[in-house]
Amino acid sequence: MAAIPSVKLAGVEKAMPVIGMGTMSFPAADLETTKAAVLDAIRAGYRHFDTAFAYGSEKALGEAVAEALRLGLVESRSDLFITTKLWASFAGPGQVVPACKMSLWNLKLEYVDMYLIHWPVRLTEAVSKTPVPEELVQALDMKVVWEGMEECVNLGLTKGIGVSNFSCNLLEQLISIAKIPPAINQVELNPSWQQKKLRDFCNEKGIHITAYSPLGANNTKWGDNRILGNDVLADIAKAMGKTTAQVALRWVYEQGVSIASKSFNKERMRQNLEIFDWCLSDEDLDKISQLPQTKGVTLAAALGPHPLVLEIDASI
Ligand code: NAP
Repeated sequence: MAAIPSVKLAGVEKAMPVIGMGTMSFPAADLETTKAAVLDAIRAGYRHFDTAFAYGSEKALGEAVAEALRLGLVESRSDLFITTKLWASFAGPGQVVPACKMSLWNLKLEYVDMYLIHWPVRLTEAVSKTPVPEELVQALDMKVVWEGMEECVNLGLTKGIGVSNFSCNLLEQLISIAKIPPAINQVELNPSWQQKKLRDFCNEKGIHITAYSPLGANNTKWGDNRILGNDVLADIAKAMGKTTAQVALRWVYEQGVSIASKSFNKERMRQNLEIFDWCLSDEDLDKISQLPQTKGVTLAAALGPHPLVLEIDASI
């Protein structure tokens, strides 16, 4: 297997491997299944893992990391790049540092490498059902929440901070008040949702993009087969002796974007790493650039079609 390249993030010392293993599964896997998948991923060569309080996978990831260290699969904690996220129910005054500490407790780690604001909204109560009543959904108080994120860095709870599902407008607002600028914006990005405007904006501002649902989240509640069932990608793959998934992941990588992809299947997780010793031709890139664009993940699907939520969905 070709070595996995890393990317240097603004203000973060440790470079981040450009492909990370996602840990959100559908239907949600139990702790042992997720733990076993993470250990398989470490054996396959993954060193970057993406979790979130909301996925319920922090404990399993933490147990897998501890086990990997015990087994000598990785030499030290610092060989891994771990991202977790602030859930919207904790995006209020005085809540950010305790939420980060709770994630660290779940993970049994002293620090994470990256802490992201998961969604650009605040939920004023913990919620367990969707849709969420409109009165519980508020716009984010950017200053309050980002000061909490910065405090997490200052306390050594995380090495870097960033956001997820943020539009250009929200990033502008954030940059104007941030003492520590966001290192990452993690968003849906794949050949069917190419995010050209956001990529250009983030490049200009030095914010790195990580692509989630790079395979269109096939077989999940929030995704479909518009990537893995795409004829253009399938034809390119066939001609190159690759899989459609590899072509999609390679395309994402060639856009200067890092990847959070999920597979709990040993063969597919290995296949997804085999994208670093070949490239797409200009002709293939041109064909992919012309694919129809459809957004898969919407906040409205989870929170309900409230005006604020629809406005956010329309902006990213
Ligand atoms: P994804 O990685 O695009 O797709 C995952 C699906 O594709 C799974 O059903 C997986 O099944 C299948 N798959 C993986 N590799 C494959 C291959 N080579 N061939 C065929 N099928 C393959 O979508 P995602 O899970 O939505 O996104 C990845 C990660 O991003 C998540 O796990 C999560 O960590 C993060 N994420 C973040 C947000 C956010 O709001 N920040 C939102 C969504 C996701 P198997 O496991 O059976 O292989």
